[in-house]
Amino acid sequence: MIFDTHAHYDDEQFDEDREALLASMQENGIGTLVNVCASVHGLQNTVDLMDRYPFVYGAIGVHPDDAGEMTEETLDTIRRLSDHEKAVAIGEIGLDYYWHKEEAEHEVQKRMFRAQMDIAREKKLPFIIHSRDAAEDTLKIVKEYMQGGMYGGIIHCFSYSKEIAAQYLDMGLYLGIGGVVTFKNAKKLKEVVEMAPLSQILLETDCPYMSPEPYRGKRNSSLNLPYVAAKIAELKGITPEEVVQTTEENARKLFGIE
Ligand SMILES: [Zn+2]
Repeated sequence: MIFDTHAHYDDEQFDEDREALLASMQENGIGTLVNVCASVHGLQNTVDLMDRYPFVYGAIGVHPDDAGEMTEETLDTIRRLSDHEKAVAIGEIGLDYYWHKEEAEHEVQKRMFRAQMDIAREKKLPFIIHSRDAAEDTLKIVKEYMQGGMYGGIIHCFSYSKEIAAQYLDMGLYLGIGGVVTFKNAKKLKEVVEMAPLSQILLETDCPYMSPEPYRGKRNSSLNLPYVAAKIAELKGITPEEVVQTTEENARKLFGIE
């Protein structure tokens, strides 16, 4: 069954039909999903979803967009919530220089990225990274941490070149692949998917964002992942079933879910 390694079902775009939608997952082939925290004030929402649905796991962390709002107390909350038995990763964390252009903001983002990488190491959990227009700084920090020993990780919504992908793959990390791979203009990402071993690829939605074709621009959900699996299968010359099965095994292994 499909394993969605990156979803945001606590987003307000799901307020109207969250319950019905999540109830329909398993009968539609979505076996497991990880709900990923993003905002400072949304941390508890992921815990509520994990408590409520047996097939929902969680990643605890704060997105770089919110780095400026983080305090010592936020870091303590992340530490505490990541002790939950269904918390399987620290994320999403990282750097976003696309929406934040000021040097001072970059410094705050780097500090909070490192602080959360420290928590991943302390709690022996994998990390989930968001990185946009910050290829060099992200790679530098990840390399530094990997040399000191980490417990695996994902570069979510991978958007950089084949050369940068190769460096993450060499470190044993996973690439999260979602709707973008189905876009006509996603030439770079298609090359990355052709090159990366299937054993280091994970399926993800980033829902409500990043709907695959033919639903580009609409609200996304895990139910659209068959389109992503089909595109990866086409690029690699294998069956969609093989993509679903191997990426599920990859996710279970990384997150330590039986
Ligand atoms: Zn996300």
